[in-house]
Amino acid sequence: MIGVLALQGNFTKHIELLKRLGIFSTEVRYPDQFNDIDGLVMPGGESSVISDLIVRNDLLEPIVEFSRVKPILATCAGIILMSKKTNDSRVIPLNIFDIEINRNAYGRQIHSFVDTIQVDLNGTTSNVVASFIRAPKIAKLGNDIEVLATHNGIPVAIRNDRHIGLTFHPELNNETIFHSFLFQMKKKVDTLSAN
Ligand code: GLN
Repeated sequence: MIGVLALQGNFTKHIELLKRLGIFSTEVRYPDQFNDIDGLVMPGGESSVISDLIVRNDLLEPIVEFSRVKPILATCAGIILMSKKTNDSRVIPLNIFDIEINRNAYGRQIHSFVDTIQVDLNGTTSNVVASFIRAPKIAKLGNDIEVLATHNGIPVAIRNDRHIGLTFHPELNNETIFHSFLFQMKKKVDTLSAN
């Protein structure tokens, strides 16, 4: 089962997209739910608010523990939360991606934009329509980070083994490659743990 972190933000869009792919998912809000899922989507929203709710719901440890073995797809606010360091002290970084990232780095809401980017994932190159909504900018790449796509020279899609982080919203343009990847990774983990 894929879980979608449902504390704040546009988690329903991810659930709808997964459903269209024929993948069941469930809204995740509490620590014990991490026992029932084997893949997680961390959606966009307000990273400072989501961070606060993660602490209040005692989810810091469960998410980090989960990430050690199971895959996560993080979009926008999600990738901010997954980073090692941000420019906003209200966000407690989960330190899952070895990156530094700056919130709202393209400017205000009116500076949000949609553009087509080229994504290299698992040896396949795809054109992806990407919505950048008060998007963050990755400022520094650390260890074990593969860049899957850039926009004007800035990394906008990254991968660390089973995890993917995007500074844009694929779900708003019905882009399914990242959710399919999450599902493939989940199946891989299932197979490994069955052996
Ligand atoms: N601006 C938001 C933040 O900094 C992220 C925006 C989004 O998720 N679309 O948390």
